[in-house]
Amino acid sequence: LHAQTEPDQQTVIQISDNVKIGGKDLVIIGGPCTVESMSQMEQVASHLSIAPVQALRGGVYKPRTSPYAFQGLGVEGLEILAKVSQRHNLPVVTEVMAISQIETIAAYADMLQVGSRNMQNFDLLKALGQAGKPILLKRGLAATIEEFLMAAEYILSHGNPDVVLCERGIRSFDNYTRNVLDLGAVAALKQLTHLPVIVDPSHAVGKRELVAPLAKAAIACGADGLIIECHPEPEKSVSDARQALSLEDMVQLVHNLRPVAEAVGRRI
Ligand code: PEP
Ligand code: MN
Repeated sequence: LHAQTEPDQQTVIQISDNVKIGGKDLVIIGGPCTVESMSQMEQVASHLSIAPVQALRGGVYKPRTSPYAFQGLGVEGLEILAKVSQRHNLPVVTEVMAISQIETIAAYADMLQVGSRNMQNFDLLKALGQAGKPILLKRGLAATIEEFLMAAEYILSHGNPDVVLCERGIRSFDNYTRNVLDLGAVAALKQLTHLPVIVDPSHAVGKRELVAPLAKAAIACGADGLIIECHPEPEKSVSDARQALSLEDMVQLVHNLRPVAEAVGRRI
């Protein structure tokens, strides 16, 4: 099934026994940028399961701008994610950066994230066609909608029909916000593809106080879900501290999104 088909053929992607993306129920994925410790993830999961948030995020292989910045806990982080996931019955999504990591990550996680910096890593995309897990494909930093859909097509055409697209902001001239959330692309993608589309307001805007309005706009615009960064001690996050919500703010945000979801005929 190609990425671009009749929009009324909306695909629903099962990421665990009880969580699917693309149906009437919106899916909120929450968690820190980086998995730092068991106690951090335990606090996140126990807050988020009551929010309710339907899935957990957390990077263990991190695409850091500087090679000297913390690169992630690797397998130790995967073990933390898997334990917390099991304990709280929350599926987990985590980033895969290289073909060599696919098998290991797929053994622990429910969904594999392709980061913006790898959206056109075509060999990685081809290999993910055989990963046996759903893929969360993030839009490249400066990728056109056509390039984004073609990247999805690489995964689909290599055998994996379960691709969720994620708009996470694109680069522009103004650096007041980290990126520019392209809501036009979200609306366009909802017409162009049957694949679910979610929005990452955290990386789009880069400042915690601006995450909530963008999250609301994304839902009003037809997004099938959100992926939002949050942390028990936001200022202490090892990466992306400036955009992390506190767990209390995350719970409040999910609550405040309810009426917006209802207004567009969706549920949280
Ligand atoms: C992330 O989700 O932490 C991340 C690195 O995102 P992106 O690839 O969109 O920059
Ligand atoms: Mn991040």
